[in-house]
Amino acid sequence: MEGELTTTVRSLHIPGSLSQERQKALARIAELSGENVSECMQCGTCSAVCPMVESMGMTTRQGIHYLQFGLVERVIDARIGEFCASCHTCQVRCPRGIEVPKVFEAVRLLALRQNEDLITIGAIPKETIAGAPQIAMVSTFRKLTA
Ligand code: SF4
Ligand code: SF4
Repeated sequence: MEGELTTTVRSLHIPGSLSQERQKALARIAELSGENVSECMQCGTCSAVCPMVESMGMTTRQGIHYLQFGLVERVIDARIGEFCASCHTCQVRCPRGIEVPKVFEAVRLLALRQNEDLITIGAIPKETIAGAPQIAMVSTFRKLTA
């Protein structure tokens, strides 16, 4: 089974016990991010230092754990990709050297490739639009719309 999947990420461990669908999802995350989530030892450091973790539907450690089993949809549903601010704090503290923001960026891209916007522009209060810096609005639309 593993031989049928291709990924540029060296030493990515894809459990043979996973369904083909989950194996492909795990390989896809590796290809898009260039990172090997199977190296995560679940220490939780990334969750402890993440400034956005309270807004996410699960901790970053949990997100990586679900991805180790190819459960990308669970991580998409937890909106980690949307709320990750790409501050890189987790990356510099990860004892395994995993570039966690790249992993969650891959999750966000997979969500957008389902052609679903991750934000409802019409629901943004007018006061927010009037008060927010234009660059913030533009980058939000670029990040969260398909
Ligand atoms: S890069 Fe994203 S996941 Fe990592 S600490 Fe910053 S907000 Fe959290
Ligand atoms: S800090 Fe690194 S090794 Fe620890 S849980 Fe997060 S991704 Fe895994």
